[in-house]
Amino acid sequence: MLLVDKATFPREKVCGDGLTPRGVTALQRMGVDPEDPGFTPVEALRTYGTDGTVITLRWPDTKSFPPLGVVRTRFDLDDLLVNRAIKAGARFREGMEVSRPLDDRGWVSGAEVTEGGDVGRVRARYVVAADGASSRFAARRGVSRIEGRPVAAAARRYYRSPRPQEPVLESFLSLQERSGLLAGYGWVFPVGDGLYNVGVGVLRSPKHSKEVTARKVMARFVRQLPPEWRMDESNAVGPLLSGPIPMGINRHPLAVPGMLVVGDAGGIVNPFNGEGIAYAIESGELAAELIGDALARNRPAIAHMYPSLIRERYERYFLIGRNWLKLLGNPTFMRFAVKHGIPRERLMRFALRFMANLSDGRGGSRQDKLMHVILSLAPER
Ligand SMILES: Cc1cc2nc3c(=O)[nH]c(=O)nc-3n(C[C@H](O)[C@H](O)[C@H](O)COP(=O)(O)OP(=O)(O)OC[C@H]3O[C@@H](n4cnc5c(N)ncnc54)[C@H](O)[C@@H]3O)c2cc1C
Repeated sequence: MLLVDKATFPREKVCGDGLTPRGVTALQRMGVDPEDPGFTPVEALRTYGTDGTVITLRWPDTKSFPPLGVVRTRFDLDDLLVNRAIKAGARFREGMEVSRPLDDRGWVSGAEVTEGGDVGRVRARYVVAADGASSRFAARRGVSRIEGRPVAAAARRYYRSPRPQEPVLESFLSLQERSGLLAGYGWVFPVGDGLYNVGVGVLRSPKHSKEVTARKVMARFVRQLPPEWRMDESNAVGPLLSGPIPMGINRHPLAVPGMLVVGDAGGIVNPFNGEGIAYAIESGELAAELIGDALARNRPAIAHMYPSLIRERYERYFLIGRNWLKLLGNPTFMRFAVKHGIPRERLMRFALRFMANLSDGRGGSRQDKLMHVILSLAPER
C-alpha cells in the first residue's frame, strides 16, 4: 500500500481537534490508545445558550462507545496516524502531490504526481481519494458537489489562558450577525497545558450576507468570551486559520471504476456538529476492507459496493441532519431551538446522543430506542 501526501509531516490541519466518543472508537479500531498522555481527555459537553443558560452533560453511557472524548492537535494526531499506517505496512511518500488520476480504459489506474518539481506516475490497482475538502483530484474524475447539500465555513485559533482546564468540550450557540442568530456554534476545546483550540463553524447559506465570513464571526466570538479567560491577541498562539466543512455526503459519486472517495473528499461529515475525523477514519476503514476483499477474491465489484454501503450506514441519519440544518438556517427557528432546548436537560441529553451519532445500534436504552425509531422513520434514498 502506498500512502501519498503533498505535505511533509507533522503538518498543521485547520480543525477543532476534538473527538467525541465516536472518534475515540475510530482511533481504538486503528490500534491507537486514546488514554495515552498525549491526548487530553474530555468527559462531557458544556453548552452555553443565548440567555446565560449553561448545561454540562457527560457523554452517554452506551455499549458501543466509551464515555470518553479527546482533544489532540491535528499536528500531532495526524503524524501519529501516519506512523500507525507505516507500522501496519504502508509505504509513505510525503511531499508528493497527486495532480490527476491516470486512466486505463475507464479504470483509474494510479495518479500523476509531482515531487520536488519532477512529474511522475504511480500505478495502483485501486486508488482511494482522501485529499480533503478541496479534493481537486477526485473532481478531475467527475466527483462534484451536490447542489443544496450543506457546507459550513469554519475558523480556529489557539490561545493560552490562565483558566484552569476542565475535561469538557464547550460549545456556544450564540453566534450572531446583524440579522440574528447564525446556524452554527463557537467552541473552546482544551488542548492541555493551558492551551485552547477556539473556533467557530457557521452554515453557509445564501440567506446570509456575503460579509458573514467565518473569520469575522470568529473575531466577534472571541470578543464575547469572558475577559478573565484572557483569550485575546496577546495570548494567541499561531495564526487564525479557516476552511470549509463539506457535510452530509455533499459529493457525488463516491466511487468511479478503480477509485473510492473517503472523508471530506466525499463530504462525509456529520451535519449536526461538523464532526469529520471519525467519519474520515470510518469511511477509510470501509474502503480498505472492501478493496482488500476485492483484491483477495479478484472481484472488483466488491470494492464498488462502497457507495451503497456508505449510504446504508449514514444516509438516513445524514438526511435528518440535512433537514435539521435547513430548519436552523431560519434565524427564528434557531432562536426558538436555543431558547427552549438548552434549559431542558433530558432533551439536551437526548440531543447530545443524537447529534454526536452515539447510538448503540442495539436499541438498549430508552433513548437509544427513540433514536432508532426516528432513524427508521427517515426515508432511505
Ligand atoms: C475549522 C475546522 C474545525 C473542525 N473541527 C473538527 C473537530 O473538532 N472534530 C472533528 O471531528 N472534525 C472537525 N473538522 C472536520 C475535520 O477537520 C475533517 O472532517 C477531517 O480532517 C477530514 O479528514 P480527511 O482525511 O478526509 O481530510 P484532511 O484531514 O483534510 O486530509 C487531507 C490530506 O490530503 C492531503 N492532500 C490534499 N490534496 C492533495 C494532493 N493533491 N496531493 C497529495 N496530498 C493532498 C492534505 O495535505 C491532507 O494531509 C473541522 C474542520 C474545520 C475546517
